[in-house]
Amino acid sequence: MPSCADFVVRNALIADGTGSPLTDGDVAIGDGRILSAGAEPALAGPSAIELDARGELVCSPGFIDVHTHDDAALIQHPGLEFKVAQGCTSLVIGNCGFSGFPATGVDDIESIAGATWPDLDGYRSAVIGGGFACNAVTLVGHNTIRMVTIGREDPRPASAAELAAMRGHVERAMEQGACGLSTGLIYKPGKWAPTEEIIELAGAAANGGGLYATHMRNEGDYLLESVAEAIRIGTESGCLVHISHHKAAGRPNWGKVADSLATIDRANSAGSDVTLDFYPYTASSGPMAEYVSADTITPEWAAQNQFATCPPFPGYQGRKVSDVAASEGIALPDLIRRVFTAPGGLAAISIGFGMSEDDLVTNVRHPRMMIGSDGIPELDGLPHPRLFGTFPRVFAEYVRGRGDLSVSEAVRRMTSLPADRFGLADRGRLIPGAWADVAVFDPVAFRDVATFEEPKREPEGLHWLIVNGILTYDRGRHTGARAGRLLRYEPSSS
Ligand SMILES: [Zn+2]
Repeated sequence: MPSCADFVVRNALIADGTGSPLTDGDVAIGDGRILSAGAEPALAGPSAIELDARGELVCSPGFIDVHTHDDAALIQHPGLEFKVAQGCTSLVIGNCGFSGFPATGVDDIESIAGATWPDLDGYRSAVIGGGFACNAVTLVGHNTIRMVTIGREDPRPASAAELAAMRGHVERAMEQGACGLSTGLIYKPGKWAPTEEIIELAGAAANGGGLYATHMRNEGDYLLESVAEAIRIGTESGCLVHISHHKAAGRPNWGKVADSLATIDRANSAGSDVTLDFYPYTASSGPMAEYVSADTITPEWAAQNQFATCPPFPGYQGRKVSDVAASEGIALPDLIRRVFTAPGGLAAISIGFGMSEDDLVTNVRHPRMMIGSDGIPELDGLPHPRLFGTFPRVFAEYVRGRGDLSVSEAVRRMTSLPADRFGLADRGRLIPGAWADVAVFDPVAFRDVATFEEPKREPEGLHWLIVNGILTYDRGRHTGARAGRLLRYEPSSS
């Protein structure tokens, strides 16, 4: 008998993470690892805690949210309640070109932490002190290293010396455990970078076996051109490519998601290696000042976008920009000026309604599509409900509702597929010896209840969540556990 079980999930429907059909059985957990998973009744000593799945609950690996902005949340909201209640045990951070390092005084994470640090090792020291509830692995952000090297507002290509300095940041990050490079090419300052700059930096990530994860230059009128750029960057740098929050924004572009996926399938057949993620909502969200200004705002944009977070005017939160302007009796440019010139106004976050439900279905059916919430953990505002609802929503809408995915296939997309892609070794499968990241949920009841009006409601249907062998969620209650680790990228050998 190797080691005693701390927990036994008894009489479960086991979704082992591989996509194989569900099987009946027990899952035993001890010393932070899976001891057994299968039809053989698990042995349990007198001290083991029995979690009775009654033949009704699914036991699966914990979910991996491959697209988060929780870099500061590991410090600011270490309980990660918005992730835990969804069944997530691991997060990929550092997305859209913004990482928690280097932190040299140009971003807000330093003010949250009360310190600065030059690299991933420094970030690791800053976050592990207080502990946090989920595992995380990080990308190094192109916007962050470009901000540190060139500045935010300088619209020009990097000099040779600046490029070498940025490449140094990527190399160091890979040595210190990052899983790759991320870009956010619609945002400043990443948008100033020519493709060649990204190829050079992605080459440094490729040398460490890492990924190139991208919020592409355009997700609307030039979606296909942007996909072509991402594929080219992968081909010329030798880097694996991962396309973040795949979508076609704006009504004239609806349906292009299918063309984009066809392009990716062709590239993969021809030797590229491209994966993707998406979130199951027709609305997007991000920093308002990146999308609109007093000079560019249109009535159409104002009608399709609402305030999520608006620090200087909390009363605007949850309301359409056009409605706020009407009720305040001012013109749209004046409203935008009022918000952006007020203290904290540039931190405003908006939600835009611009995607089609059919494109979500096309996305969810693709076998290389993972799930990434893209949640923005601004809990003082009315954030996009994806922050609290993404993972259970996939089950509610696409497993039970429309039948696009089986339970075991949905679990595979949330577990082994991302674990292998983002280098989370010995995670994502319920097999003996793997880390005990385990979710137990009711496949009939698991659903999101967060809405755009009430976005901070925790989902229903998760029974238990175990992170590194520690019970973190117990039938509706966060246990207060902080068992997460900042993982190092360990590419799978296959
Ligand atoms: Zn993004």
